[in-house]
Amino acid sequence: MKKDDLKNGFWIFGNKGNVWSNTAHIFTSPASSTLCGTPMLSTNWAKLNGVKEIGCQKCLKIYNQKTLAEIIIGNL
Ligand SMILES: [Zn+2]
Repeated sequence: MKKDDLKNGFWIFGNKGNVWSNTAHIFTSPASSTLCGTPMLSTNWAKLNGVKEIGCQKCLKIYNQKTLAEIIIGNL
């Protein structure tokens, strides 16, 4: 899925490893981790490098199955 197709309130996140392996995640504010639970401790290299494709299958599955409210509550 392309990051430009993300719904309002969702953004791409990826550390260096994610950029290299094309497995960028999805996150939403105010969560401190990605949808699949990866802590966002590093710089958002996917954003800096202009990565366009969300590659994390776990994030995509959660994104497609849950509402924004469910995701935020699950991350608090
Ligand atoms: Zn993920």
